[in-house]
Amino acid sequence: MGEQRIEAALQEATDTQNVSIGVGAMDSVPEIFKEVFGQAPAFVVADENTFEVAGREVQRLLEGAGHTTIEPYVFPAEPPLYAEYANIEKLRDSLREHDAIPVAVGSGTLNDIVKRSAHECERPYMCVGTAASMDGYTAFGASIEKDGLKQTLSCPAPRAVVADLEVLKGAPGDMTASGYADLLGKVTSGADWLIADALGVEEIDNTGWALVQDHLREWIGNPAELRAGDGEATGHLIEGLIMSGLGMQSYQSSRTASGAEHQFSHLWEMEGLGKDAAPPLSHGFKVGVGTVAIAALYERVLERELGDLDIAALRECWPTREEMERSVRAQHTSPELEDGAVEQTLAKYIGAGELVQRLQLLGEVWPEVRGKVRAQLMPAAQIREMLEAAGCPTGPGEIGLSWEDFAATYARAQTIRKRYTVLDLALEAGILEGCVDELFAPEGFWGRAVAGCFRGREKNDDR
Ligand SMILES: [Zn+2]
Repeated sequence: MGEQRIEAALQEATDTQNVSIGVGAMDSVPEIFKEVFGQAPAFVVADENTFEVAGREVQRLLEGAGHTTIEPYVFPAEPPLYAEYANIEKLRDSLREHDAIPVAVGSGTLNDIVKRSAHECERPYMCVGTAASMDGYTAFGASIEKDGLKQTLSCPAPRAVVADLEVLKGAPGDMTASGYADLLGKVTSGADWLIADALGVEEIDNTGWALVQDHLREWIGNPAELRAGDGEATGHLIEGLIMSGLGMQSYQSSRTASGAEHQFSHLWEMEGLGKDAAPPLSHGFKVGVGTVAIAALYERVLERELGDLDIAALRECWPTREEMERSVRAQHTSPELEDGAVEQTLAKYIGAGELVQRLQLLGEVWPEVRGKVRAQLMPAAQIREMLEAAGCPTGPGEIGLSWEDFAATYARAQTIRKRYTVLDLALEAGILEGCVDELFAPEGFWGRAVAGCFRGREKNDDR
């Protein structure tokens, strides 16, 4: 079943030609390598952990099948490999000494480092995944810290990906949980695309949509089993993550897999949240908390009658470009982040006249789009329960963020990316602040959590 889906998805992908998922899939590495790269020599790249878990075996299999191989490149296990440009330079220098095809054996960070290094040497590569920890295996682009800022550097996705379920099942629980949270975020990102589509901002591409959304409920349906190490649940998760990456390749944009929940994650990432924790706070865990936050916001937004907004009043108080820029600058403290946010915000800025048109259109489409978004979403409480069952954090405290900074993220995340999401809809409809206030009011979704948290603390103090 899953195999057919992947095969069909590969027809739509631009970079990736071959994906193998299954128990014992690692055995297929030599054959796939030969199919995709012919007689080229192979070059295993891993870190000390992933080399032990799978890299040594991949090297042995390649040698055993008669492939020419180069001495593997193994990054140290400690300190944990960080996605910084210096590592790309190191690997690139090594790649320039030969013409072998890199075989990345590892997960997110290692894959990103090899992806970009190989691209800088104009060389394709393949990847053997060691954890179902994020959807980047089959995605283009690498998330790397360069010049003090986390950025997405362009580079194609791997030509081939192998994911052996026996290896993935043995990965640290937090890594699998992170992948689950990254996948669960497609629930809210899909809702954001429905809204952008309805408002004529970004039309839905049926192929890109189907690859990520058609089987999402099945892939995310067994969080507790996943946590318990169930093979089928792990298979569903990795299939969903690989299909998400292929969806991005097909549509040539991360719109298929990333919405406002990722903007929460990206903002926190750019501010270095959890960077120095051991292990560092994962992408997926930030996305998971962002997903609960956005699902809760949607509940407030969907309660409203956006068909009868006072458009004239909203036009009156809509900021000019200059006012918008000032407001963005006032919300950020780091200069690089501030400049980037201004650029992104102004790229999606619309004048008061366009605002009126958009809100009129919103009035016309609201009943229909509201129905579609409701069908797409799940209650925020349910998303929180699913994350919890998978072993993921579900609120700001668990990722080291204060309630105050968390509440401010709703407004600030809207500024850092030009992608149109529910945050833009709420801002333009003049309801963002009101909705956030409701969420943090004593009986609101987060207000109840804040109260529960303080009650818990008092109890602890008594002891
Ligand atoms: Zn993601």
